[in-house]
Amino acid sequence: MYNPKKKNLSSIVPDMLKFLMPLAIEQEYSEKHFDQKPKICRRCKNKIFTRYDTERRLFCILIRPKGLKKIYVYVKRYKCKKCGLVSLFRRNILPRLPIRKAYR
Ligand SMILES: [Zn+2]
Repeated sequence: MYNPKKKNLSSIVPDMLKFLMPLAIEQEYSEKHFDQKPKICRRCKNKIFTRYDTERRLFCILIRPKGLKKIYVYVKRYKCKKCGLVSLFRRNILPRLPIRKAYR
């Protein structure tokens, strides 16, 4: 089985990335609620939804000098009134971070 290595920040990483970015991400997203209805059902193209539930999901894992920290967010899910398909909030609600862009 795959045995992951311990995550450490390299010494050449600037202090801004080591300390400020994880802090900014944690303050902005930790335990944040995302509640935005989907525009249209993927299955039947219906536009009427009802509330379904709220899920706690892992948003990201921050590598900090003290160790790893998991950041969770809450996302509200909606159910299509016509076909019953459960959908998440709009996908484009999350910002496009430069880091995400680099790995595409
Ligand atoms: Zn539907």
